[in-house]
Amino acid sequence: METRVCRLYDIHDLRIETDQVAAPGAGQVRVAIGAGGICGSDLHYYHDGGFGPVRVKEPMILGHEVAGTVEAVGAGVAGIVAGDRVALNPSHPCGTCKYCQAGMFNQCMEMRFYGSAMRFPHEQGAFRDRIVVAAGQCEKIGPGTSLAEAACSEPLAVCLHARNRAGELAGKRVLVTGAGPIGALCVAAARHAGAAEIVATDIQEATLAVAARMGASRTINVAAAAEAMEPYFADKGSFDTVFECSAAPAALRTAITAVRPRGTIVQVGVTGDLPVPINMIVGKEIALKGTHRFHEEFAEAARLISSGAIDVKPIITGTYPLEQAVTAFSAAGDRTRSVKVQLTFA
Ligand code: ZN
Repeated sequence: METRVCRLYDIHDLRIETDQVAAPGAGQVRVAIGAGGICGSDLHYYHDGGFGPVRVKEPMILGHEVAGTVEAVGAGVAGIVAGDRVALNPSHPCGTCKYCQAGMFNQCMEMRFYGSAMRFPHEQGAFRDRIVVAAGQCEKIGPGTSLAEAACSEPLAVCLHARNRAGELAGKRVLVTGAGPIGALCVAAARHAGAAEIVATDIQEATLAVAARMGASRTINVAAAAEAMEPYFADKGSFDTVFECSAAPAALRTAITAVRPRGTIVQVGVTGDLPVPINMIVGKEIALKGTHRFHEEFAEAARLISSGAIDVKPIITGTYPLEQAVTAFSAAGDRTRSVKVQLTFA
C-alpha cells in the first residue's frame, strides 16, 4: 500500500515522496495518521540541520507528535480493532539495557524514537499518511477528542515528565519561562497539579495569550516590561519551582534569580552551552534538574486530553495539509503568531 512521506534531505530541502507501507506483522497495527504536530526539534532539523551534536546525516522522515485511526491489525493483537482512534507513542525503548532494566526507560541506550537523528541510521519519523507500529505504542482516545488534540499527547507527556521531576506542585508558586508549546503545556500541567500561582514569561504577546488560556495566573512580556519581574527577585527569590522552557541565557538567569532558596529549577528547553551564574545556584542551594522525554507519562497525557482534564486546543494555532509542509514549517518557526502548528494527512 502507498503512503506519502515528508522527508528532509538537507536544510530547507523538505520533500513529499511516495513510499510503500507493509501489512502489519504479528503484534503490530497499521495506522492512518490524521494529525501531526511540528516540534521544535523538527524545526531545528529543517532550519539548522540539527541541534548541538545531533546532526541530520541521511534523509529522514520528520515527525513524532502524531495521532490517527487504526486501519488494520496484525496477528495476536488484543484490545485494538480497526477504527480505533489512537495517539501514537513515538518512544520505543529496548527494554533490556541497564537503564531499561532499572526502570529508567527514557534513558534507554538503544532508544528508537520517531524522527530522531540521535542515532545512525536515523530513526524515521511519522509525518506520513500511514505507518505500521507496535500495538503497544497506541493509546486509545475517546470519541469526543479530535486527532489534532490527541497529537498533543507527546508534548504534554514531555511536560508531565518535567512535572514529575519537579516534585509536588500543589499549593506552590510556579514560574514558567518561555511560553511556546512546551511552556504552555507546562502551565497546564502545573495547573492540573494544583499549583497556587503560575507566572509565565515570554517575549511574544501571542504565546503569552495562549499561556493565559492554558491556566497562567499572570503573564509577563519580559521584552516589553522586564521590570515586572523585579518584585519576584526580592528576598532571594519568590518561586518554589521554575520550568525553564526557553533555553535562552537571559531566561535561565531570570529563573535562578527568581527561584527561592532551596527551590527547584527544571530545565526543559534544550540548547548548546550556556553561561550559568553558578554562584547563585550554590549560594541559594538551588536544585537544577534536567528532564528528558517521558515514559509512562505518555499514557497519562493521552488520558488527560481524552477525558478533557487538560484542554490542549488553545495551543494549536495553525493547521496545514501535508502538501503545504514547507508553508507549515515556515509558520511554525514564526513565534510572533504560532505556538503549535500541525499537519493533516490523507
Ligand atoms: Zn534500553
